[in-house]
Amino acid sequence: MPPPPRVKRKYISLEERKTTFREPDFGYTREEAIEEAGRCLQCKKPACVNACPAHVPVKDYVNAILEGDFDEAYRINRCTLPMPSSLGRVCPAFCEQKCILGKKFEPIAIRDLKRAACDYGKRVTPAVAPKREERVAIIGAGPAGLTVANDLVIRGYQVTVYDRLETAGGTLVAGIPTFRLPREILKQDVHMLEEMGVEFQFNESIGKDFDLDTLTYQGYDAIFLGIGAMDPKRLNITGEHLKGVASAAAILADLAFQRDVDLPDRISIIGCGNVAIDIARSAIRLGKESTILYRRTLKEAPANDDEIEEAFEEGVDIKYLVAPIVILGNEDEHVSEVECIRMELGEPDDSGRRRPVPIPGSEFKVPTDMVIPAVSQSPQLEWLKLDDGIELTRWSTIWTNEETGESSREGVFAAGDDVLGPSTVVECIAQAHMAADGIHKHLSPEEWEKEHTIEETPEEWPPKTEDD
Ligand SMILES: Cc1cc2nc3c(=O)[nH]c(=O)nc-3n(C[C@H](O)[C@H](O)[C@H](O)COP(=O)(O)OP(=O)(O)OC[C@H]3O[C@@H](n4cnc5c(N)ncnc54)[C@H](O)[C@@H]3O)c2cc1C
Repeated sequence: MPPPPRVKRKYISLEERKTTFREPDFGYTREEAIEEAGRCLQCKKPACVNACPAHVPVKDYVNAILEGDFDEAYRINRCTLPMPSSLGRVCPAFCEQKCILGKKFEPIAIRDLKRAACDYGKRVTPAVAPKREERVAIIGAGPAGLTVANDLVIRGYQVTVYDRLETAGGTLVAGIPTFRLPREILKQDVHMLEEMGVEFQFNESIGKDFDLDTLTYQGYDAIFLGIGAMDPKRLNITGEHLKGVASAAAILADLAFQRDVDLPDRISIIGCGNVAIDIARSAIRLGKESTILYRRTLKEAPANDDEIEEAFEEGVDIKYLVAPIVILGNEDEHVSEVECIRMELGEPDDSGRRRPVPIPGSEFKVPTDMVIPAVSQSPQLEWLKLDDGIELTRWSTIWTNEETGESSREGVFAAGDDVLGPSTVVECIAQAHMAADGIHKHLSPEEWEKEHTIEETPEEWPPKTEDD
């Protein structure tokens, strides 16, 4: 017998959705969450857990929801994720892609169940160990930095997080629009870290207000760099200097912090990742026409599938298999058109995705008032000095030891987008757990050794006692 259909979230009307920066859906009720959890097959070897970079015990919390124990479902999530409520909204849910039900039917709505666990479960602040002497400076209050802060403060280390912004959350507050992630959701998670003893220093920028040496002189025993990757990559085509070629990061940050954003009527966005989709959907909400130009197909697009679907429903014009070749301007040196060429897919490239190949003679023009490149980003590391001793990779990301997260400078660790390049929240969290463990090993090697030594099981079990 086929399983019951997936329980669908309820949405506000499409017309209203297109005009509001409020969250457009309501999440599950308790009853709906229990019903959806009831579809889970509780596999013996759950592929969903392996598919999650942070190995969240999905099966266990889905089971807790099925039993109506939302407190336990929240607790299980919070053990691995310092910001479970945010992930209940924006996680790309690699777990759902591997859900066994998904082979023939719709997979379990795992992300929605995580959201329900956080909506209805009691938030219990994790216990922290007694304060130690060692102090750790964390630069960047995004998912990576907050994860390291969480893991270290739990172990008793004194943690100070520095960020150039006036608030914590990184891209979750300065990039992802409010209609996908309401700000009060993240605030609750950050507040919990404050309660646990994490200190925050806002409006402090490494490379401007201080540098790595300053932190060492100030007596920090280890430093963590989690500064993300928000420097837009250039398209490397003619016309990028024109007025009206705008920065995706700057527009998203202006929208996120509710600063005035003056967008023209017709916007062309290059790329089809989360950044591109978020800008396109925001522009629609401001009453603008937004067109996405993407050189591959929907199948290869890096944005979350449901975001692409929602963008399409809201009226974003997504042109697949199209690449810009030149940005054309008017007499005022302002963008007026993008000349594009149609593509077809060839053999797979290094990323495993089929390489787009231009179709000769298929050039055409898209009239536009603004062009926003959103093809990729890299970390902003121009502040690094040669004698800082931080090696970079050929992708201009920070090189780190794969097992400890330590950079080429002893005592300086890194994780998240500044190491991985643009990735996802859950991947950054997973890597940051590893780096926090690396910092712990660096600062307290004997204790770390003890914690990681698996005591040998005696040959006979249970071992013999004197009474035997
Ligand atoms: C628009 C957009 C939408 C996205 N959508 C999704 C999604 O739906 N799902 C998903 O999983 N992922 C999504 N991502 C990716 C995800 O947000 C990132 O992978 C993740 O936030 C990276 O975490 P991080 O901690 O490494 O860096 P960030 O979140 O970028 O945080 C870095 C922090 O470092 C600070 N910083 C930078 N330079 C300095 C400096 N010199 N001094 C002090 N502080 C500094 C920044 O202010 C920032 O707070 C999206 C990204 C963007 C841009």
